[in-house]
Amino acid sequence: MNKTEELRKIKDEIINLENSALADERRVNGTLPVIGEGNHDAEIMFIGEAPGENEAKTGRPFCGRAGKVLDSLLESTGIKREDVYVTNIVKDRPPKNRDPLPEEIDVYGPFLDRQIEIIKPKVIATLGRFSMEYVMRRYGLENKLDTIGALHGKILQTVNFKLVPLYHPAAAIYNQHLLDTLKQDFRVLKDLT
Ligand code: URA
Repeated sequence: MNKTEELRKIKDEIINLENSALADERRVNGTLPVIGEGNHDAEIMFIGEAPGENEAKTGRPFCGRAGKVLDSLLESTGIKREDVYVTNIVKDRPPKNRDPLPEEIDVYGPFLDRQIEIIKPKVIATLGRFSMEYVMRRYGLENKLDTIGALHGKILQTVNFKLVPLYHPAAAIYNQHLLDTLKQDFRVLKDLT
């Protein structure tokens, strides 16, 4: 199977997912799962938290207000969105955008692991603390875990990729200081590719 076929298989499995209350809700609501989008050979992979309302309507990650912030950060850094891959840990929308539950991360995390294995990015940029903690635990950086305030913009080496934890773009919607910090941290990404 090539990369596109392997990623499509993940999509099919998530569409038909049976052990997830969020997937059941999605089928009742008639909304969409958000699998991920972008270049299958991307050097940089962004991992957010979970789809919001706009994302669940369109099936596209980061296409609402947080997505506009992400787009502006990419643009200001000179990284093209079509060159990167963007996804989330949790692929179905938690009701009212609440934080994902540990059991939801357990259900959807293995799909993210497979996406990472297929795409093989050189750099993973996590957006927010949920994806930061997941990736650090999963890829041998548990002993370096700290707050996002301490780790944002740092480069952490794993066997397969460099990890750069970033604040979640949604946190910068009303916070100019965080937006400035995100802009600086995005330069770290640019320098790594
Ligand atoms: N927030 C996320 O974490 N992911 C999205 O796709 C949109 C908003």
